[in-house]
This record gives sequence, C-alpha cells and structure tokens, in this order.
Amino acid sequence: MSENHHKVIIIGSGPAGLTAALYNARANLNPVVFEGLQPGGQLTITTEVENYPGFEHGIQGPELMDVMRKQSQRFGAQPFFKHVTKVDFSKRPFVIEAGKEVYTADAVIISTGATAKWLGIPSEEKYMGYGVSACATCDGFFFKNQKVIVIGGGDSAMEEANYLTKFASEVLVVHRREEFRASKIMEDQAKKNPKIKFALNKVVKEILGEEENGRKKVTGAILEDTRDGSTEKVEVDGIFLAIGHKPNTDLFKGQLEMDETGYLVVKGASTYTNVDGVFAAGDVADHVYRQAVTAAGMGCKAAIDAERWLAEQGIE
Ligand code: NAP
Repeated sequence: MSENHHKVIIIGSGPAGLTAALYNARANLNPVVFEGLQPGGQLTITTEVENYPGFEHGIQGPELMDVMRKQSQRFGAQPFFKHVTKVDFSKRPFVIEAGKEVYTADAVIISTGATAKWLGIPSEEKYMGYGVSACATCDGFFFKNQKVIVIGGGDSAMEEANYLTKFASEVLVVHRREEFRASKIMEDQAKKNPKIKFALNKVVKEILGEEENGRKKVTGAILEDTRDGSTEKVEVDGIFLAIGHKPNTDLFKGQLEMDETGYLVVKGASTYTNVDGVFAAGDVADHVYRQAVTAAGMGCKAAIDAERWLAEQGIE
C-alpha cells in the first residue's frame, strides 16, 4: 500500500472527530484526521464552554479543541490541515481526495458536523461569541436577568425561547413572517410563557454593541418591518440565532443515505452508515442533541465500531 493509505481516515475535527481519533490512536490504528476549513469545528467560534464535563471552571472553546487534538496526537493520531474535496465510497479501499492529493483508507469516520445558519450581516460576525450565539443550551446561562432576542419561527426558536426564560428576564422572538413554522404545540407553549414577547414580520437588520474594558458586548438591535421597511431600535443584551442548521454532507450526496434535511442516517444506536466501513458521528448525524459532549460520545462509538469492523476484515 502507498504512504497515502491509512487504516482509518477521519473527516472532520470537532469533538466527534477528535474523540474518534483518540480512541483509534490508542487502538494503534494510526488514524489521520482531515481537519477541514474550520479546524476544531463549531466550538472554535464560541468563547466560554461551561458544560463540557471535567472542566469545573469552564474552558474556552478553542482551547478545549486544542487540548483534544494534542491528546489524540499523544497516541499517534495525525492531524492533516487539509480540506476533503471528493470521496469515493463505491470501492475499497475508500478514496478520499484533498484537491490534487489522493488518499485511501480501509475505514472512514465522518464527523464533518453541521453549520448553524447565520444572517450574514457584519455586526453579527463582530459580536459572535460576545452576545451573539446559535446555541441557547451553551450560552443561555450567561444572560441571567437580561433581555435577549431569539431569531426564527421554527421549533428550535420556540424551544430556545422557552429554555432562555430560565435565565433571561425577557425573551423577544423576532420572526420574519406572521405565521410560525413551528409545530402548534411548541408555538402555544411559547405563547403561554409570560416572559416571551413576539416581534412578527420583523428581521434583525443590525446588531448594536459596544466595547467595555477591551471586551465587546451586545447592547441592542435594529429591527426592520418586512411589510413596510420601517425600523425600530430595541435594547437587548444577547441575540440567539435559531434559523436552522445545515449538515455538512454535500460531499457525500449520492453515496451515503441521508434524511430529507441532509443528515447522515446511521443504523440504530450504532454509527454504521449504509456503506460498510463508513461510520458517522456527531452533529452530521444528529440534529437533536447537537452538544459537544454528545458528539464526543458518538465519536467514541464510531472509533469502536470502526475498530471492530476492521478486525472482522482482518485489519488490526
Ligand atoms: P426550521 O424549521 O428550518 O425553521 C427555521 C426558521 O428560521 C423558520 O421560521 C424560518 O423562517 C427562519 N429563518 C430561516 N432563515 C432565516 C433568515 N435568514 N432570517 C430570518 N429568519 C430565517 O429550523 P429549526 O427550527 O432549527 O428546526 C429544524 C428541524 O428540527 C425541524 O424539523 C424541527 O421540527 C426539528 N426540531 C424539533 C424540535 C422538537 O421537536 N423538540 C426542536 C427543535 C427542532 P420561515 O418560517 O419564514 O421560513
């Protein structure tokens, strides 16, 4: 086999990918991790992570991913800072291409994650991690007795709005239409919550903020009426995006089974995809929990599934 052949190639370097790398490295499989365009994944665009077990006082997202990468390297995992552009799972060994470079693998673990959808305005990028978030479970705690906006009209927006009322004094749901996309039951739940207010037919045009002692913070937003274009300013301390996620699966279209929204389908509680030898872990195959710790857990499962499957093929 050529030097570009590996027993295990892991595509994606968030908590799922790096945990899979740690386990497969400790099983002497010398896994290679294609880190992709955002090495470390979604946690690298957050600040404080307080809900990853083992860090009593929390840890910065980028630092957590750095530690995970180093831990896997300690046992022989190799990070490749390359972006996979093409795969071929129709033959074995599997073929993975990164631009002009061609690699082969006996087993592949896919942990390419999902990308939260963003509005795409410059002020959103400026305050990302400093009051702008796409994860209420991760960051809601920082908004005790403060006022926040949730953008979106789907189930996620309703769920996150309800969840945020545990901390925030007021949650303003900003939705671009009159009707909700959310299920009736979740819409009703949100409407019954006295801490939730609604701004319908409105979009967030701009996020306002300031810098205090070198730290950025959100102070408000400009809302625009989608019917007549009129604008108003609201004072809030945080903005939560809940306008959907997109699984990073374009690369696998036509090769792996996906659900109607593009998430990879795994068999039962395992990480097996419909192609033997190809496993999936983390947000790319989980639109429900989407937590770093659940992704890491699934990465561990994928590594064990891959190791056992390779052993069945006589590859140890
Ligand atoms: P979703 O159903 O696609 O809803 C996204 C919402 O964001 C829609 O209301 C959409 O508005 C709005 N939106 C999209 N792009 C926007 C933009 N650029 N600016 C402003 N608003 C924008 O996504 P989701 O709520 O994350 O749900 C995804 C899936 O997970 C759904 O199948 C949902 O049922 C499921 N889910 C279930 C639960 C649960 O059952 N507990 C919880 C969460 C999610 P429009 O309506 O105008 O398109």
